[in-house]
Amino acid sequence: MKNWDVIIIGAGVIGLSLALRLRDEHRSVLGVEKHEPAGEATHAAGGMIANCDPHTPAILQPFADASAALYPEFVHEIESESGESTDLRDVGTIAFFGRGNSPTHAAARKLSVDELRTLEPALAVETEILITCLYPDAETPLPVFKVPSVAVEMHGPPWFLPERCVDPRALGRALTKACKKRAVDFVTGSEVLEVLTAAGRAMGVRTSHATYHAGAIVNCAGAWAAKIEPLPIPTRPVKGQMVCVVPQSLSGGPHIPGSGICGKELIRHVVRTPRIYIIPRSDGRILLGATVEDAGFDKRTDPRKIKRLYQAGLDIAPVLSNTRIHDAWAGLRPGSPDNLPILGETSIPGYFAATGHYRDGIMLAPATASAMAELITGQQPSLDLAPFSPSRFA
Ligand SMILES: Cc1cc2nc3c(=O)[nH]c(=O)nc-3n(C[C@H](O)[C@H](O)[C@H](O)COP(=O)(O)OP(=O)(O)OC[C@H]3O[C@@H](n4cnc5c(N)ncnc54)[C@H](O)[C@@H]3O)c2cc1C
Repeated sequence: MKNWDVIIIGAGVIGLSLALRLRDEHRSVLGVEKHEPAGEATHAAGGMIANCDPHTPAILQPFADASAALYPEFVHEIESESGESTDLRDVGTIAFFGRGNSPTHAAARKLSVDELRTLEPALAVETEILITCLYPDAETPLPVFKVPSVAVEMHGPPWFLPERCVDPRALGRALTKACKKRAVDFVTGSEVLEVLTAAGRAMGVRTSHATYHAGAIVNCAGAWAAKIEPLPIPTRPVKGQMVCVVPQSLSGGPHIPGSGICGKELIRHVVRTPRIYIIPRSDGRILLGATVEDAGFDKRTDPRKIKRLYQAGLDIAPVLSNTRIHDAWAGLRPGSPDNLPILGETSIPGYFAATGHYRDGIMLAPATASAMAELITGQQPSLDLAPFSPSRFA
């Protein structure tokens, strides 16, 4: 009977990234996946590496910054190992946080309307207003500007955030390939029902088909983590619907004569507002997301909500009227009771959790993988995992 050093339950971005790091530490790894690798939240995600967002909880900020900083190296390794591109883009994010909400991140920079128009002409659409409407507290009178309608709508100034984004589907494919190349074993189509123990220590897993043995087990089962006996890790599904649009023509010519918007790139930056975010891919696809819903394990899309997302995109960037809907989908984010990740050893020695990444699992994958691999192999994690300990829910 084959034994592994570590069994990872769930082959999403977290399980796959951790498997690679454990191979760096020369551990043998089995990934047990109930469907196919990277097919759930990882497949559904937008891929923003949004570490400058003011909604990031303060306690998560150092971890988020560390993970974002690891991204270029993380992706470089996966791309060279797999031969696949992950479309890591570092053009940056243009964000509107609404009146009274400013980013606290040191890297965030307020944009003038002119800068905004230059950076992202797709947003600089024709709403001519007195700028004093937007800045009623300004001490000196401000001139009339053409400002983007989104700024009017959101009653707040635009910010530039030096963030990256990645294509999570491409990342999932590349990670899977890299893991296979690095001799990570996989069992797919097998649902783990239970973590097995002997003398109070984790020693294996039981699936719907078989049992597998290892010295350490890690629950990376995302929104489904709580279903695994005997110690449910308290995640819950938080549904997100998204829509993908593509330019009417991907042939490469100018789409909007005289607009300066050419080729495949209708929009260059990630754009975030309180109503919607827009994520461009290098191949011309543009994602509009996302809903945040408590709907259990339901992954159906609702045409009315998809239409609303598309309309919200059009309101901010009318250039999107030159696109057509390509597809729409829903995925289940792994929320936790306090919406922070759950990272560390559980009350069962040898049984670890690496889940609950909620809206940030793509961003947090590199730091999670490094710190958890250190912990599982008996090293002191180089990032502080104490705030995310599973014991906080005991
Ligand atoms: C619409 C949407 C947009 C998002 N946008 C972003 C974004 O822009 N940036 C960002 O950082 N994050 C984003 N996220 C969040 C991100 O997708 C998740 O945090 C991340 O994918 C979680 O990864 P995971 O590996 O934990 O979970 P998953 O990718 O869901 O993987 C869990 C895996 O475990 C498997 N599994 C479950 N139960 C079992 C079992 N019992 N036995 C075996 N296998 C099992 C599942 O089949 C699945 O493959 C978004 C999510 C959604 C839904």
